[in-house]
Amino acid sequence: MAKTLSSVCKLCRREGEKLFLKGERCFTPKCSFEKRNFAPGQHGRTAGRGGGKGMGTGRASDFARQLRAKQKARRVYGVLERQFRRYVETAQSRRGLTGENLLQILESRLDNVVFRLGYASSRSQARLLVSHGHFTVNGRRSDVPSMILRQGDEVTVREGSSKLTYFKELGDFAEKRNTPSWLSRDVKKISGAVTRMPERAEIDGSLDEQLIVEYYSRR
Ligand code: SF4
Repeated sequence: MAKTLSSVCKLCRREGEKLFLKGERCFTPKCSFEKRNFAPGQHGRTAGRGGGKGMGTGRASDFARQLRAKQKARRVYGVLERQFRRYVETAQSRRGLTGENLLQILESRLDNVVFRLGYASSRSQARLLVSHGHFTVNGRRSDVPSMILRQGDEVTVREGSSKLTYFKELGDFAEKRNTPSWLSRDVKKISGAVTRMPERAEIDGSLDEQLIVEYYSRR
């Protein structure tokens, strides 16, 4: 599981926007970004939004914008740098646009699919549920949140886990969540399937894959 030493809310403040990393809390007045909308740290108030390393107070340099785009995507999906770089390399080796391939890989992670199916309120919660072995992929227990799913893969709660209070009470919450059209689901069975790979328009439009690709191509 990707871990960070700072609180996840600090990551939103670092990026200068809400990344929705804490599930339901992000939609309530308790969201700390609503109260402290400036970068964390001693110079946060004077550095301005997104005032992190390389940003300064003036117009952000190309490098700074590429870095922020990359960091934002890493934080949204909870992926460590080394793994993120591997995803970029895989995306480069595939046919088509590298940036779109990268976003497709990130969306296809098992933890993200569990989140998208509405069985967790955030990706970090989904990561925890997966790493505790509560789900199977194609009938086999999988506790690897970074597992990349393919078209046709089926995700189901493990039989033993379905008796846990969390999963017994999940129905109403999951029903209220929209599932993207590249996934199908059966909330009663707490299962779902990848019916096709996601298209760019179905992935977070605030992510700038072009800047991410530029960041890695200059290094
Ligand atoms: Fe970000 Fe959610 Fe924390 Fe608000 S509550 S700062 S959106 S992680």
